[in-house]
Amino acid sequence: MDFKTILQEIVQDSNTFSSIGNVTVTIPELAKVNPNKFGIHLTTISGEDFGIGDSEEKFSIQSISKALTVALAFSFLDEKIWKRVGVEPSGSAFNSLIQLEYEKGIPRNPFINSGAIVIADMLVSCLDNPKDDFLEYIRMISGSPTINYNLAVAQSEKDTRFRNAALANFLKSFGNIENDVDEVLDFYFHQCSIEMSCKELAHSFFFFANEGKSKDGKQILTKSQVKRLNALMQTCGFYDESGEFTYKVGLPGKSGIGGGIVALFPKNFVVATWSPKLNKKGNSELGMHALELLTTKTGMSVF
Ligand code: GLN
Repeated sequence: MDFKTILQEIVQDSNTFSSIGNVTVTIPELAKVNPNKFGIHLTTISGEDFGIGDSEEKFSIQSISKALTVALAFSFLDEKIWKRVGVEPSGSAFNSLIQLEYEKGIPRNPFINSGAIVIADMLVSCLDNPKDDFLEYIRMISGSPTINYNLAVAQSEKDTRFRNAALANFLKSFGNIENDVDEVLDFYFHQCSIEMSCKELAHSFFFFANEGKSKDGKQILTKSQVKRLNALMQTCGFYDESGEFTYKVGLPGKSGIGGGIVALFPKNFVVATWSPKLNKKGNSELGMHALELLTTKTGMSVF
């Protein structure tokens, strides 16, 4: 497969694709990002790298981090995590409060904010130094020791935390947060503030496509565990647009309001895109379009 040419064609096409959408305003620090950035990086399962555009520039991975926190929690707690978080698509916005009341404090899945906050609580309980240990884990799976938190972004999210604080307190009222609410939120804001390039993201998610083994051969999760997480990304990775992403792209993936998307074709490739302009559901407009073109042009999708 000539990925180099295909990526060039996608970028050419994107020049004519009207760049609809807006950079997020919910986190003031992220509203400063140049809206016209665009990068794609694809890593094949044999380890070949193909990058184009701003693919080596770091950006805020935001909710993409939720797939990595759930992976780490899964390695500690295995199936026990599903006692406190469900595995069903929510059909609601990522920061919705409404279902929590009906579901008695059990979030529908780990990718909406409420679910990710419960996973953050699990990691605060499991890790000795949660923020340091999580960063170390990210550096280990990605093979990139320069990955870091962006403290200004974490602070900006803390300053505007009201909805996430409401979710965390509501979860606590149902007994589904074990630790201090502020400590859990602090961890959550930091995980969302992690910065990576498309290349680093593709490398971090390599083990999802490689039956649980990282790019440098470490067994991060079992084959069965990554099958389960890929299934969750397929059904829940894009909130109330998960059906649309599956319909158009046909790969498991995860988005973030920093404009990043990571998607993968098990046993074939991992791809990450970055374009900060978001659609109304909070997913990157151009990123989704680029991935739709990728699977259409290559014919490589799980369906
Ligand atoms: N940090 C963001 C929030 O909690 C993450 C949301 C996202 O990327 N969809 O609101």
